[in-house]
Amino acid sequence: MIKYRAMIDCAGWAMSSTHTEDRARIEAFHTNGAAIMITISPGRNKGARAYMLTPGWAWWRKIPLPAVEAFVTRLEIPPKAKRPPVGSPCTCEKVKYPTRDRAMDTLTDITIKRVIKRNGVQSERSAYRCPCDDRVWHVTSQDPRMPKNDDDRR
Ligand SMILES: [Zn+2]
Repeated sequence: MIKYRAMIDCAGWAMSSTHTEDRARIEAFHTNGAAIMITISPGRNKGARAYMLTPGWAWWRKIPLPAVEAFVTRLEIPPKAKRPPVGSPCTCEKVKYPTRDRAMDTLTDITIKRVIKRNGVQSERSAYRCPCDDRVWHVTSQDPRMPKNDDDRR
């Protein structure tokens, strides 16, 4: 993970990372809207996995680890990333967003519509990361949930 952090940091992406006993996650955003996520869960016997997202894509796609460097340094999309989007273990009966920004964009739209309607009905007002899947964000009418050991920057 350290080598990916250094690589992403060097390339100037806005990066955040989180680490618990049984898993670690790096998440980084390029100024053009591209995103990359690398997760590792040794406790669950899972090796490192990398996912990428570009502004034109609806969802994360899994990419081979050796392709991370080309994507991070030159925004090269590996041919193997062009397969169907990855699935999700999320079983929440909620709309899924791949990043906090996209979830927040929806909230902004909802707020604008509410203001236009002037009906004052409180609807979704915050975004939180899905407890089942790092790659999923939901919006909620509850106060923002702040899961332990998680960072909420994106
Ligand atoms: Zn969920």
